[in-house]
Amino acid sequence: MEMTKKELLDLGFKFHGHRCPGMPLGLRVGLAAMEKLGVSRAKDGEVLALIETGEAHCAGCFGDGIQVATGCTYGKGNIKKTHYGKIAVTLIDVKNQKAVRANVASEFFAKMEQSPFMQQRNSGVPASKVPGEISQPSIDMVMSMPDSAFIEVSDVFDYNIKPPVVQFKRVKCDVCGEMVIEKYARILDDKIACIPCLEKEHKVF
Ligand SMILES: [Zn+2]
Ligand SMILES: [Zn+2]
Repeated sequence: MEMTKKELLDLGFKFHGHRCPGMPLGLRVGLAAMEKLGVSRAKDGEVLALIETGEAHCAGCFGDGIQVATGCTYGKGNIKKTHYGKIAVTLIDVKNQKAVRANVASEFFAKMEQSPFMQQRNSGVPASKVPGEISQPSIDMVMSMPDSAFIEVSDVFDYNIKPPVVQFKRVKCDVCGEMVIEKYARILDDKIACIPCLEKEHKVF
């Protein structure tokens, strides 16, 4: 059964760790992209998300909302960051080789900059320390606006991608004794080595 928006929001905040408008922004954009593409929340790897956020920038929380909405998760490996520093996602229907790109309209950020939530964040207050009465109106705004007011979704386009083959075979590293997925194992002299053991051996500094 599909989760309601409210259930996704609750799950999202539990997963995310603090209450901010960025995670709900990802939820809304993810849901809009899924609707246009005609896909459900991914159970396996049938949907792939390419999120354009990078590291340590405002609204990066967007990526957690995308994970919660789309079911594309880092554990399953069907989400990747492009590190473009943009608040956008390309959602790919792997089976049908189709995709859409959804991004947040520029005007939305101009509006968000003025919000008391962003003023707190800009003055260095961690998101978890922003009082609820300040964060809640921003969260409500993101959750209640119509898609057309802040989300731009492209038409569906062709996207050719080969689904990766899941690797099950493991081997034992002869150096540390830990198991490693075979394709990540390396040869060190005549032994099998995991990558960290290989790197340790070849450290020049
Ligand atoms: Zn956040
Ligand atoms: Zn090892």
